[in-house]
Amino acid sequence: MSTEASKKAFEEAQSLIPGGVNSPVRAFKSVGGTPLFITEGEGAYLKDIDGNKYVDFVQSWGPLIFGHRDESIEKAVIEAVKHGLSFGAPTLAETELAKLVISFFDSMDKVRFVSSGTEAVMSAIRLARGFTGRDDIVKFTGCYHGHSDALLVEAGSGAATFGNPSSPGVPADFTKHTLLATYNDIESVKKCFNDSKDIACVIIEPIAGNMGLVPADKAFLHELRELCNENGTLLIFDEVMSGFRATLHGAESITGVKPDIVTLGKVIGGGMPVGAFGARAEIMSKLSPEGPVYQAGTLSGNPVAMAAGFAALTKLKENARVMSVLEARATRLTAGMKAAALACGITMQTDVRGSMFGFFFNENPVKNFADACKSDAELFAKFHAAMLREGFYFACSLYETGFISTATTDEMIEETIKASEKIFKEITNV
Ligand SMILES: *Cc1c(COP(=O)(O)O)cnc(C)c1O
Repeated sequence: MSTEASKKAFEEAQSLIPGGVNSPVRAFKSVGGTPLFITEGEGAYLKDIDGNKYVDFVQSWGPLIFGHRDESIEKAVIEAVKHGLSFGAPTLAETELAKLVISFFDSMDKVRFVSSGTEAVMSAIRLARGFTGRDDIVKFTGCYHGHSDALLVEAGSGAATFGNPSSPGVPADFTKHTLLATYNDIESVKKCFNDSKDIACVIIEPIAGNMGLVPADKAFLHELRELCNENGTLLIFDEVMSGFRATLHGAESITGVKPDIVTLGKVIGGGMPVGAFGARAEIMSKLSPEGPVYQAGTLSGNPVAMAAGFAALTKLKENARVMSVLEARATRLTAGMKAAALACGITMQTDVRGSMFGFFFNENPVKNFADACKSDAELFAKFHAAMLREGFYFACSLYETGFISTATTDEMIEETIKASEKIFKEITNV
Protein backbone atom coordinates (compact mmCIF):
# COMPACT_ATOMS: atom_id res chain seq x y z
CA MET A 1 0.00 0.00 0.00
CA SER A 2 1.44 3.36 -1.03
CA THR A 3 0.59 6.62 0.72
CA GLU A 4 3.02 8.75 -1.29
CA ALA A 5 0.35 11.16 -2.58
CA SER A 6 -0.87 11.81 0.99
CA LYS A 7 2.71 12.42 2.15
CA LYS A 8 3.24 14.97 -0.62
CA ALA A 9 -0.11 16.62 0.03
CA PHE A 10 0.73 16.87 3.73
CA GLU A 11 4.03 18.58 2.97
CA GLU A 12 2.31 21.24 0.90
CA ALA A 13 -0.50 21.66 3.43
CA GLN A 14 2.06 22.21 6.20
CA SER A 15 3.51 25.15 4.31
CA LEU A 16 0.09 26.82 4.15
CA ILE A 17 -1.90 25.64 7.18
CA PRO A 18 -0.33 25.32 10.68
CA GLY A 19 0.60 21.66 11.07
CA GLY A 20 -1.15 20.97 7.76
CA VAL A 21 -4.53 20.52 9.45
CA ASN A 22 -7.51 22.58 10.55
CA SER A 23 -7.98 20.63 13.79
CA PRO A 24 -4.91 19.33 15.66
CA VAL A 25 -5.78 15.69 16.36
CA ARG A 26 -6.02 15.01 12.62
CA ALA A 27 -2.26 15.42 12.27
CA PHE A 28 -1.39 11.87 13.49
CA LYS A 29 1.23 13.38 15.81
CA SER A 30 0.68 11.03 18.73
CA VAL A 31 0.95 7.89 16.59
CA GLY A 32 3.70 9.12 14.25
CA GLY A 33 3.32 8.87 10.50
CA THR A 34 1.40 11.33 8.36
CA PRO A 35 -2.33 11.83 7.96
CA LEU A 36 -4.16 10.45 4.95
CA PHE A 37 -5.79 12.89 2.58
CA ILE A 38 -9.33 11.81 1.85
CA THR A 39 -11.14 12.06 -1.46
CA GLU A 40 -14.44 10.49 -0.56
CA GLY A 41 -16.46 8.36 1.80
CA GLU A 42 -18.96 5.67 0.93
CA GLY A 43 -20.96 3.97 3.68
CA ALA A 44 -18.43 2.54 6.13
CA TYR A 45 -15.48 3.20 3.82
CA LEU A 46 -13.03 6.06 3.36
CA LYS A 47 -10.88 6.47 0.25
CA ASP A 48 -7.58 8.37 0.22
CA ILE A 49 -5.85 10.20 -2.63
CA ASP A 50 -3.55 7.22 -3.25
CA GLY A 51 -6.64 5.15 -4.01
CA ASN A 52 -6.56 3.11 -0.78
CA LYS A 53 -9.79 2.10 0.90
CA TYR A 54 -10.34 1.79 4.64
CA VAL A 55 -13.07 0.64 6.99
CA ASP A 56 -13.71 3.88 8.87
CA PHE A 57 -14.10 3.70 12.66
CA VAL A 58 -13.78 7.48 13.06
CA GLN A 59 -16.85 8.59 11.08
CA SER A 60 -15.79 12.24 11.08
CA TRP A 61 -15.21 11.94 14.88
CA GLY A 62 -18.79 10.95 15.54
CA PRO A 63 -21.37 12.77 13.39
CA LEU A 64 -21.89 10.13 10.68
CA ILE A 65 -23.96 7.54 12.51
CA PHE A 66 -25.41 6.36 9.17
CA GLY A 67 -22.00 6.29 7.51
CA HIS A 68 -20.79 8.38 4.60
CA ARG A 69 -23.22 9.61 1.96
CA ASP A 70 -26.38 8.40 3.63
CA GLU A 71 -29.04 8.62 0.97
CA SER A 72 -31.74 10.45 2.92
CA ILE A 73 -29.35 13.00 4.42
CA GLU A 74 -27.74 13.65 1.04
CA LYS A 75 -31.15 14.12 -0.56
CA ALA A 76 -32.32 16.51 2.17
CA VAL A 77 -29.18 18.63 1.80
CA ILE A 78 -29.43 18.85 -2.00
CA GLU A 79 -33.11 19.79 -1.74
CA ALA A 80 -32.33 22.52 0.81
CA VAL A 81 -29.46 23.92 -1.26
CA LYS A 82 -31.84 24.53 -4.16
CA HIS A 83 -33.75 27.04 -2.04
CA GLY A 84 -30.75 29.07 -0.95
CA LEU A 85 -27.78 28.58 1.37
CA SER A 86 -28.60 31.08 4.10
CA PHE A 87 -31.18 33.76 4.86
CA GLY A 88 -30.38 35.16 8.30
CA ALA A 89 -34.11 35.06 9.00
CA PRO A 90 -36.32 32.42 10.66
CA THR A 91 -37.20 29.28 8.70
CA LEU A 92 -39.62 26.43 9.38
CA ALA A 93 -36.65 24.05 9.29
CA GLU A 94 -35.43 25.46 12.61
CA THR A 95 -38.78 24.94 14.34
CA GLU A 96 -39.00 21.42 12.97
CA LEU A 97 -35.54 20.41 14.12
CA ALA A 98 -36.15 22.08 17.52
CA LYS A 99 -39.36 20.06 17.95
CA LEU A 100 -37.53 16.88 17.01
CA VAL A 101 -34.51 17.43 19.29
CA ILE A 102 -36.73 18.35 22.27
CA SER A 103 -38.82 15.20 21.72
CA PHE A 104 -35.75 13.08 22.54
CA PHE A 105 -34.93 14.76 25.89
CA ASP A 106 -37.13 14.82 29.01
CA SER A 107 -35.05 17.65 30.46
CA MET A 108 -35.57 20.01 27.49
CA ASP A 109 -38.42 22.49 26.83
CA LYS A 110 -36.49 24.78 24.51
CA VAL A 111 -33.33 24.58 22.45
CA ARG A 112 -31.05 27.00 20.63
CA PHE A 113 -28.96 26.06 17.60
CA VAL A 114 -25.38 27.16 16.99
CA SER A 115 -22.70 26.00 14.56
CA SER A 116 -20.35 23.86 16.66
CA GLY A 117 -20.03 21.96 19.90
CA THR A 118 -17.56 24.55 21.17
CA GLU A 119 -20.13 27.29 20.68
CA ALA A 120 -22.88 25.22 22.31
CA VAL A 121 -20.87 24.63 25.48
CA MET A 122 -19.47 28.16 25.66
CA SER A 123 -23.03 29.54 25.42
CA ALA A 124 -24.43 27.02 27.91
CA ILE A 125 -21.82 28.10 30.47
CA ARG A 126 -22.71 31.76 29.95
CA LEU A 127 -26.37 30.89 30.36
CA ALA A 128 -25.67 28.99 33.60
CA ARG A 129 -23.70 31.96 34.93
CA GLY A 130 -26.41 34.39 33.88
CA PHE A 131 -29.14 32.25 35.39
CA THR A 132 -27.42 31.74 38.77
CA GLY A 133 -25.62 35.07 38.96
CA ARG A 134 -22.43 33.20 39.88
CA ASP A 135 -18.98 33.04 38.25
CA ASP A 136 -17.24 29.76 39.10
CA ILE A 137 -17.60 26.53 37.15
CA VAL A 138 -16.44 22.99 37.86
CA LYS A 139 -15.06 20.76 35.13
CA PHE A 140 -13.41 17.35 35.21
CA THR A 141 -9.84 16.60 34.23
CA GLY A 142 -9.82 14.74 30.91
CA CYS A 143 -13.24 16.00 29.79
CA TYR A 144 -13.18 18.09 26.62
CA HIS A 145 -15.77 20.80 26.11
CA GLY A 146 -14.46 22.54 23.02
CA HIS A 147 -11.68 25.10 22.78
CA SER A 148 -13.17 28.19 24.42
CA ASP A 149 -10.82 29.88 26.91
CA ALA A 150 -12.41 28.99 30.24
CA LEU A 151 -12.75 25.33 29.30
CA LEU A 152 -9.30 24.73 27.91
CA VAL A 153 -7.98 23.39 31.18
CA GLU A 154 -6.90 19.75 31.51
CA ALA A 155 -9.03 19.05 28.48
CA GLY A 156 -8.22 15.51 27.34
CA SER A 157 -7.80 14.22 23.78
CA GLY A 158 -6.26 16.78 21.39
CA ALA A 159 -4.87 18.87 24.23
CA ALA A 160 -3.62 15.83 26.14
CA THR A 161 -2.13 14.25 23.06
CA PHE A 162 0.14 17.23 22.63
CA GLY A 163 1.04 17.59 26.26
CA ASN A 164 -0.45 21.09 26.52
CA PRO A 165 -3.28 20.58 28.99
CA SER A 166 -3.93 24.27 28.85
CA SER A 167 -2.85 26.57 26.10
CA PRO A 168 -0.67 29.66 25.73
CA GLY A 169 -2.92 32.53 24.75
CA VAL A 170 -5.40 31.83 27.52
CA PRO A 171 -4.86 34.41 30.30
CA ALA A 172 -4.74 32.90 33.78
CA ASP A 173 -7.43 35.44 34.66
CA PHE A 174 -9.80 33.71 32.23
CA THR A 175 -9.45 30.29 33.84
CA LYS A 176 -9.34 31.35 37.48
CA HIS A 177 -13.06 30.65 37.72
CA THR A 178 -12.61 27.09 36.41
CA LEU A 179 -12.31 24.57 39.26
CA LEU A 180 -11.02 21.10 38.47
CA ALA A 181 -12.36 17.83 39.82
CA THR A 182 -11.51 14.17 39.20
CA TYR A 183 -13.88 12.10 37.09
CA ASN A 184 -15.84 9.47 39.05
CA ASP A 185 -14.54 10.89 42.34
CA ILE A 186 -17.29 12.64 44.33
CA GLU A 187 -14.90 13.71 47.11
CA SER A 188 -13.01 15.87 44.61
CA VAL A 189 -16.28 17.63 43.72
CA LYS A 190 -17.16 18.14 47.39
CA LYS A 191 -13.79 19.82 47.79
CA CYS A 192 -14.70 22.29 45.01
CA PHE A 193 -17.96 23.12 46.79
CA ASN A 194 -16.00 23.64 50.01
CA ASP A 195 -13.56 25.93 48.25
CA SER A 196 -16.21 28.06 46.53
CA LYS A 197 -19.72 29.25 47.35
CA ASP A 198 -19.97 30.81 43.90
CA ILE A 199 -20.34 27.75 41.63
CA ALA A 200 -22.72 28.43 38.75
CA CYS A 201 -22.49 25.00 37.18
CA VAL A 202 -20.78 21.65 37.07
CA ILE A 203 -20.13 20.53 33.51
CA ILE A 204 -19.45 16.90 32.70
CA GLU A 205 -19.39 14.47 29.81
CA PRO A 206 -21.70 11.88 31.42
CA ILE A 207 -20.20 9.37 29.01
CA ALA A 208 -16.70 10.74 28.54
CA GLY A 209 -15.33 10.23 25.05
CA ASN A 210 -12.32 12.51 25.04
CA MET A 211 -9.99 10.54 27.31
CA GLY A 212 -10.85 7.36 25.50
CA LEU A 213 -14.30 6.04 26.36
CA VAL A 214 -14.83 6.37 30.12
CA PRO A 215 -18.47 6.35 31.24
CA ALA A 216 -19.32 7.93 34.59
CA ASP A 217 -20.58 5.58 37.30
CA LYS A 218 -24.32 5.91 37.88
CA ALA A 219 -23.91 6.36 41.63
CA PHE A 220 -21.36 9.12 41.01
CA LEU A 221 -23.77 11.02 38.74
CA HIS A 222 -26.58 10.68 41.31
CA GLU A 223 -24.32 12.12 44.02
CA LEU A 224 -23.28 14.89 41.64
CA ARG A 225 -26.95 15.76 41.06
CA GLU A 226 -27.55 15.90 44.81
CA LEU A 227 -24.55 18.13 45.42
CA CYS A 228 -25.73 20.51 42.71
CA ASN A 229 -29.24 20.57 44.20
CA GLU A 230 -27.91 21.31 47.69
CA ASN A 231 -25.81 24.20 46.39
CA GLY A 232 -28.21 25.76 43.88
CA THR A 233 -25.74 24.88 41.11
CA LEU A 234 -26.77 23.84 37.60
CA LEU A 235 -25.66 20.49 36.20
CA ILE A 236 -24.66 20.52 32.53
CA PHE A 237 -24.39 17.28 30.58
CA ASP A 238 -22.09 17.85 27.64
CA GLU A 239 -23.47 15.33 25.17
CA VAL A 240 -21.90 16.83 22.06
CA MET A 241 -20.36 13.41 21.45
CA SER A 242 -22.58 10.98 23.37
CA GLY A 243 -25.89 12.54 22.25
CA PHE A 244 -27.54 10.20 19.71
CA ARG A 245 -24.37 8.09 19.80
CA ALA A 246 -24.52 6.31 23.19
CA THR A 247 -28.31 6.37 23.44
CA LEU A 248 -31.15 8.17 21.65
CA HIS A 249 -32.60 9.91 24.72
CA GLY A 250 -29.55 11.29 26.42
CA ALA A 251 -27.49 10.00 29.33
CA GLU A 252 -30.46 10.99 31.52
CA SER A 253 -32.39 8.05 30.06
CA ILE A 254 -29.81 5.44 31.06
CA THR A 255 -28.59 6.94 34.33
CA GLY A 256 -31.82 8.35 35.77
CA VAL A 257 -29.99 11.62 36.45
CA LYS A 258 -31.61 14.70 34.95
CA PRO A 259 -29.28 17.52 33.94
CA ASP A 260 -30.34 21.18 33.95
CA ILE A 261 -28.75 21.94 30.57
CA VAL A 262 -27.76 19.57 27.76
CA THR A 263 -25.27 20.49 25.03
CA LEU A 264 -25.33 18.72 21.67
CA GLY A 265 -23.36 18.67 18.44
CA LYS A 266 -21.85 16.11 16.08
CA VAL A 267 -24.76 13.72 15.20
CA ILE A 268 -27.45 16.45 15.32
CA GLY A 269 -25.92 18.05 12.22
CA GLY A 270 -25.83 14.78 10.27
CA GLY A 271 -22.35 15.80 9.04
CA MET A 272 -23.06 19.54 8.72
CA PRO A 273 -21.87 22.06 11.36
CA VAL A 274 -24.62 22.18 14.01
CA GLY A 275 -24.43 22.51 17.77
CA ALA A 276 -27.25 23.07 20.25
CA PHE A 277 -28.00 23.60 23.90
CA GLY A 278 -31.32 23.07 25.59
CA ALA A 279 -32.93 23.20 29.02
CA ARG A 280 -36.24 23.74 30.77
CA ALA A 281 -38.12 26.94 29.85
CA GLU A 282 -37.20 28.74 33.09
CA ILE A 283 -33.50 28.57 32.17
CA MET A 284 -33.79 29.06 28.40
CA SER A 285 -35.96 32.16 28.83
CA LYS A 286 -32.91 33.95 30.26
CA LEU A 287 -31.42 33.86 26.75
CA SER A 288 -31.49 36.87 24.45
CA PRO A 289 -33.83 38.20 23.03
CA GLU A 290 -36.25 36.68 25.60
CA GLY A 291 -33.85 37.43 28.44
CA PRO A 292 -30.62 39.33 29.15
CA VAL A 293 -27.96 36.63 28.43
CA TYR A 294 -26.53 37.46 25.02
CA GLN A 295 -25.82 34.81 22.40
CA ALA A 296 -25.94 35.04 18.61
CA GLY A 297 -24.69 33.67 15.29
CA THR A 298 -24.87 34.81 11.64
CA LEU A 299 -25.12 31.24 10.36
CA SER A 300 -26.91 29.73 13.39
CA GLY A 301 -29.85 27.58 12.32
CA ASN A 302 -28.52 27.52 8.77
CA PRO A 303 -31.20 25.95 6.55
CA VAL A 304 -28.90 23.44 4.84
CA ALA A 305 -27.42 22.31 8.16
CA MET A 306 -30.92 22.10 9.70
CA ALA A 307 -32.06 19.90 6.80
CA ALA A 308 -29.15 17.50 7.31
CA GLY A 309 -29.81 17.32 11.06
CA PHE A 310 -33.51 16.82 10.56
CA ALA A 311 -32.94 13.96 8.12
CA ALA A 312 -30.49 12.27 10.49
CA LEU A 313 -32.65 12.57 13.62
CA THR A 314 -35.81 11.57 11.75
CA LYS A 315 -34.09 8.41 10.63
CA LEU A 316 -32.99 7.71 14.21
CA LYS A 317 -36.50 8.31 15.51
CA GLU A 318 -37.95 5.91 12.96
CA ASN A 319 -35.36 3.24 13.78
CA ALA A 320 -35.56 3.14 17.56
CA ARG A 321 -33.80 -0.23 17.65
CA VAL A 322 -30.79 1.02 15.72
CA MET A 323 -28.75 1.70 18.85
CA SER A 324 -29.00 -1.86 20.19
CA VAL A 325 -27.92 -3.23 16.80
CA LEU A 326 -24.91 -0.90 16.77
CA GLU A 327 -24.14 -1.72 20.38
CA ALA A 328 -24.11 -5.46 19.62
CA ARG A 329 -21.64 -4.87 16.77
CA ALA A 330 -19.41 -2.63 18.87
CA THR A 331 -19.45 -5.22 21.66
CA ARG A 332 -18.49 -7.99 19.26
CA LEU A 333 -15.64 -5.83 17.92
CA THR A 334 -14.14 -4.99 21.30
CA ALA A 335 -14.61 -8.52 22.65
CA GLY A 336 -12.90 -9.95 19.55
CA MET A 337 -9.96 -7.56 19.71
CA LYS A 338 -9.60 -8.07 23.45
CA ALA A 339 -9.43 -11.85 23.02
CA ALA A 340 -6.93 -11.49 20.16
CA ALA A 341 -4.74 -9.28 22.36
CA LEU A 342 -4.98 -11.60 25.33
CA ALA A 343 -3.91 -14.58 23.20
CA CYS A 344 -0.66 -12.65 22.71
CA GLY A 345 -0.32 -11.76 26.37
CA ILE A 346 -1.64 -8.18 26.01
CA THR A 347 -4.25 -6.94 28.47
CA MET A 348 -6.86 -4.65 26.97
CA GLN A 349 -9.59 -2.68 28.77
CA THR A 350 -12.67 -2.19 26.62
CA ASP A 351 -16.03 -0.47 26.93
CA VAL A 352 -19.05 0.15 24.74
CA ARG A 353 -21.97 2.59 24.94
CA GLY A 354 -24.32 2.32 21.99
CA SER A 355 -22.33 2.99 18.84
CA MET A 356 -19.29 4.26 20.80
CA PHE A 357 -16.43 1.94 21.68
CA GLY A 358 -13.16 2.40 23.49
CA PHE A 359 -10.09 0.34 24.26
CA PHE A 360 -6.97 0.89 26.34
CA PHE A 361 -3.78 -1.15 26.44
CA ASN A 362 -3.86 -1.07 30.19
CA GLU A 363 -3.57 -3.67 32.97
CA ASN A 364 -6.23 -1.96 35.08
CA PRO A 365 -9.76 -0.60 34.60
CA VAL A 366 -9.86 3.07 33.56
CA LYS A 367 -12.07 5.32 35.70
CA ASN A 368 -10.50 8.72 35.13
CA PHE A 369 -7.91 10.61 33.10
CA ALA A 370 -4.95 9.62 35.30
CA ASP A 371 -5.85 5.95 34.73
CA ALA A 372 -6.13 6.54 30.99
CA CYS A 373 -2.66 8.13 30.95
CA LYS A 374 -1.16 4.90 32.29
CA SER A 375 -2.06 3.13 29.04
CA ASP A 376 0.68 1.89 26.71
CA ALA A 377 0.98 4.68 24.13
CA GLU A 378 3.78 2.99 22.21
CA LEU A 379 1.76 -0.18 21.74
CA PHE A 380 -1.23 1.90 20.65
CA ALA A 381 0.89 3.69 18.02
CA LYS A 382 2.14 0.36 16.64
CA PHE A 383 -1.38 -1.08 16.60
CA HIS A 384 -2.76 2.02 14.89
CA ALA A 385 -0.12 2.07 12.14
CA ALA A 386 -0.41 -1.66 11.46
CA MET A 387 -4.21 -1.64 11.33
CA LEU A 388 -4.07 1.27 8.92
CA ARG A 389 -1.79 -0.73 6.61
CA GLU A 390 -4.38 -3.53 6.75
CA GLY A 391 -7.11 -1.09 5.71
CA PHE A 392 -8.73 -0.22 9.05
CA TYR A 393 -8.96 3.45 9.97
CA PHE A 394 -8.97 3.96 13.77
CA ALA A 395 -8.73 7.31 15.56
CA CYS A 396 -5.09 8.41 15.65
CA SER A 397 -4.93 8.93 19.43
CA LEU A 398 -5.42 6.57 22.33
CA TYR A 399 -7.53 9.28 23.99
CA GLU A 400 -10.25 9.10 21.34
CA THR A 401 -13.41 7.03 21.05
CA GLY A 402 -14.24 4.72 18.14
CA PHE A 403 -17.54 4.80 16.27
CA ILE A 404 -19.66 2.18 14.49
CA SER A 405 -22.11 3.34 11.81
CA THR A 406 -25.15 1.55 10.44
CA ALA A 407 -23.04 0.95 7.32
CA THR A 408 -20.48 -1.03 9.36
CA THR A 409 -21.48 -4.65 8.67
CA ASP A 410 -20.95 -7.76 10.82
CA GLU A 411 -18.61 -8.98 8.11
CA MET A 412 -16.44 -5.87 8.45
CA ILE A 413 -16.33 -6.40 12.21
CA GLU A 414 -15.09 -9.98 11.72
CA GLU A 415 -12.48 -8.77 9.21
CA THR A 416 -11.30 -6.17 11.72
CA ILE A 417 -10.96 -8.76 14.48
CA LYS A 418 -9.01 -11.07 12.13
CA ALA A 419 -6.65 -8.26 11.18
CA SER A 420 -6.11 -7.45 14.86
CA GLU A 421 -5.21 -11.11 15.54
CA LYS A 422 -2.54 -10.91 12.86
CA ILE A 423 -1.25 -7.55 14.10
CA PHE A 424 -0.99 -8.58 17.76
CA LYS A 425 0.98 -11.67 16.71
CA GLU A 426 3.31 -9.54 14.59
CA ILE A 427 3.82 -6.97 17.34
CA THR A 428 4.57 -9.54 20.02
CA ASN A 429 6.34 -12.08 17.78
CA VAL A 430 4.11 -14.88 19.09
C1 LIG B 1 -16.40 17.46 20.04
C2 LIG B 1 -16.79 17.92 21.38
C3 LIG B 1 -16.95 19.28 21.67
C4 LIG B 1 -16.59 20.37 20.70
O1 LIG B 1 -17.35 20.31 19.54
P1 LIG B 1 -16.79 21.03 18.21
O2 LIG B 1 -17.90 20.87 17.23
O3 LIG B 1 -15.55 20.29 17.83
O4 LIG B 1 -16.52 22.44 18.54
C5 LIG B 1 -17.43 19.63 22.92
N1 LIG B 1 -17.74 18.70 23.83
C6 LIG B 1 -17.59 17.38 23.59
C7 LIG B 1 -17.96 16.39 24.64
C8 LIG B 1 -17.09 16.94 22.36
O5 LIG B 1 -16.90 15.65 22.16
